[in-house]
Amino acid sequence: MQRDTEIFDLINEEKNRQINGLELIASENFVSEQVLEAAGSVLTNKYAEGYPGKRYYGGCEVVDKVENLAIDRLKELFNAEYANVQPHSGSQANTAVFHACMKPGDKFLGFDLSHGGHLTHGSPVNFSGRLYEPVFYGVNKETGLIDYDEVEEIAKREKPKMIIAGASAYSREIDYKRFREIADGVGAILFADIAHPAGLIAKGLLSDPIPHCHVVTSTTHKTLRGPRGGIIMMGKDFDNPFGEKLKNGNLKKMSALLDSGVFPGNQGGPLEHIIAAKAVAFGEALTDEFLYYTVQVKKNAKALAQAFMNKDFNVISGGTDNHMMLIDLRNKNITGKQAEEALGKAEITVNKNMVPFDDKSPFVTSGIRIGTPAVTTRGLKEDDMSRIVELIDTVVSNFEDETKLAEVKEEVLNMMQGRPLFSA
Ligand code: PLP
Repeated sequence: MQRDTEIFDLINEEKNRQINGLELIASENFVSEQVLEAAGSVLTNKYAEGYPGKRYYGGCEVVDKVENLAIDRLKELFNAEYANVQPHSGSQANTAVFHACMKPGDKFLGFDLSHGGHLTHGSPVNFSGRLYEPVFYGVNKETGLIDYDEVEEIAKREKPKMIIAGASAYSREIDYKRFREIADGVGAILFADIAHPAGLIAKGLLSDPIPHCHVVTSTTHKTLRGPRGGIIMMGKDFDNPFGEKLKNGNLKKMSALLDSGVFPGNQGGPLEHIIAAKAVAFGEALTDEFLYYTVQVKKNAKALAQAFMNKDFNVISGGTDNHMMLIDLRNKNITGKQAEEALGKAEITVNKNMVPFDDKSPFVTSGIRIGTPAVTTRGLKEDDMSRIVELIDTVVSNFEDETKLAEVKEEVLNMMQGRPLFSA
């Protein structure tokens, strides 16, 4: 067959964009060549509905081994008792948890989207807000931090069936132990969504939700540096009887409910090529090289936040404990949308983001979210962070000046030249 140059030219164009630019989107990263190879492998040809050893299709002997390896490596990485590697995305992992733990109409407590939560934590435009009844906690207006006393107060008042801890735009440690005490106090399930900081948690650089939460989900493509996808894990609660009664009168186990929440509850055939790529990424994450990488991600984020504050940028909560930060641009007379567009012209990629108590719409926003996982993979260190802030400052202060934007773009191209896209 003729080569499809139309699409492969575009793929090449995107590869060049990634190579040339400064990638500061907190949720993005660059996978290794081995992860890419597995994701582009013949495993994409295989149907394998079900789970290893219990499939609805023949010929699954090899993919069973692949999936079991992915499960074992993930359990080792997080010290988990249970793991499901089939969710196609973080959102689908979360959907499976809702299926397993609640009935439509049940009330749950999530982190407000405009304060840093995710769409799947109760947004009215998402299944979580449409099929269930969300109530929210947020951050304190002065400190930008989660106020656990307030979470407890809301939980006691609202009596949710499930509480979600975790965020898309929160730069601070999360106290999972305190969350569990709050959940236990009202008989709620505690569900942690660690989609963003998973890589740092895996290497012990942030507090660990596994000992405290009933269920933990994550994406695999952010700080974990794997293919796009989702996972579900459990610690000590994996064997808890829970939910519906079986025919013999016993309750199902949490783990069984989660498995069926993924398949057949919410997905059909698993993407075994992506599961293989997840296994490769988990193998990489188990190495010391990955530890050095995550330590550098954190160091870079600290240096970047400090450099922003030195230039009078308002970093929400006054810094970061993880890989990201949220910047309120209201003192800079530019919206998040304008900043995202102007920075894009200079080959600096960020995303506009609501800040807590934002007075602008999600399409405009007052802030930008910035993270260091991708630039750290490209080999940038603390010293580079102050240069990045100088470049961003120039763009923000001259966002309508095309000549200035072109000058910054030139500097970005120089900065990124000779830096490999793929991690070792
Ligand atoms: N949960 C959180 C906290 C996230 O930040 C994200 C993605 O940004 C997701 C879930 C959803 O992941 P996906 O985009 O793979 O559906």
